[in-house]
Amino acid sequence: MGQLAINGGTPVRTEPFASWPIYDDTELRLLKEVLESGKWGGSGSSAVPNYEAKLPLMERKFAELHGARHAVSVVNGTVAISVALQAAGLKPGDEVIVPPYTFIATASAALACGMIPVFADIEEETLLIDPEKIEPLLTAKTRAIVAVHIAGAPANMTRLREIAAKHDLVLIEDAAQAVGASWEGQGVGSIGDLGTFSLQSSKNLNAGEGGVITTNSAEYWENAWSICNVGRVPNGGWYQHDRFGQNYRMTEFQAAIVLAQMTRLEEQMRRRERNAKLLDGLLAGIDGIRLLRQDPRITRHAYHLYMFKLDPAFAERADKAEFVKRVNAEGIPLAAGYIPLNKNVSVLETTKMWTGEERVYDCPVCERMCAKEAVWLTQNVLLSDERAIRDVAEALDKVVRSF
Ligand SMILES: *Cc1c(COP(=O)(O)O)cnc(C)c1O
Repeated sequence: MGQLAINGGTPVRTEPFASWPIYDDTELRLLKEVLESGKWGGSGSSAVPNYEAKLPLMERKFAELHGARHAVSVVNGTVAISVALQAAGLKPGDEVIVPPYTFIATASAALACGMIPVFADIEEETLLIDPEKIEPLLTAKTRAIVAVHIAGAPANMTRLREIAAKHDLVLIEDAAQAVGASWEGQGVGSIGDLGTFSLQSSKNLNAGEGGVITTNSAEYWENAWSICNVGRVPNGGWYQHDRFGQNYRMTEFQAAIVLAQMTRLEEQMRRRERNAKLLDGLLAGIDGIRLLRQDPRITRHAYHLYMFKLDPAFAERADKAEFVKRVNAEGIPLAAGYIPLNKNVSVLETTKMWTGEERVYDCPVCERMCAKEAVWLTQNVLLSDERAIRDVAEALDKVVRSF
């Protein structure tokens, strides 16, 4: 092994990884159709005879992709969670169980509706919500669980459904990172009561911004649709606002881009899966690195992120931040990942504002994973060629040996 790049040695890799976003003439053609149709938004009609609007088509395909009966498009994945919580009938003051190892939106979407996120720690082997940590947190105010399919790996939906049913809780899947993933053959977003997705530019289906809510319940669908359409009711009058709602509609331009991106989704998913498998094999041979456990009931992983851990013994002598810095210097965009949401200042301050209480949440597994062990690569790395994946492993091996 040569000298570390951080100390002036030659980096393992100098070429970039696969670029993102990916597009071609399909996007251009569909965008032009929207432009020329005159129907640019989710309301109104087209001047072009027999024109098929993009949003309903995209919603139909999105629901189909996940085996859900209904889908409602929405401005982003954060609002999708807020709308799902409201559509399920939650009210301000209600408590929502969420994991602490996730993007802040999972918690802030509840807070935005006056609801209180309560943190259930994660499983050390998967970094997903630990279903067995939920029951001790339940109070008379608990109304829902938001399971997050972090990195694109479905959480243990079988166990979560049991717990939700036993305590009469709404189960929502935050599938922002998990487009196309499945648990025991069932598409995410169709397993819980409602599912939410993000179409934000880093996500595996990219519309720049956007989100989708999925559900099998006609009642939740109607509620969600209404909340996103200023409280209107399907087939009701234009100025008939029967419930509280806001305008959370996506544009037809975004739907056009999603439809185009969807034509490549399956091929991209396969490429990520192939490269993740290759990387699993290569990293398994490196002392100091530990792979996450993948539950065999995960029938499809979306690999929005490729997460792995520093082995606990190795992490004792190798500082995670320094490890990441050395790997980055080798030309590999390794990320240190999330910081624990259960300790986030804005979450705790807003919780105090809503409840009048100072709350303390301890999630020792999440805190240790964030501080010492968990790291990740983003999905575009997995869209690169085999050489790139071998470079990732070579750089990790080189850096592990430097500690
Ligand atoms: C991206 C993301 C969101 C929020 O989606 P936006 O479209 O960015 O609002 C929510 N939850 C998770 C887990 C995410 O990764």
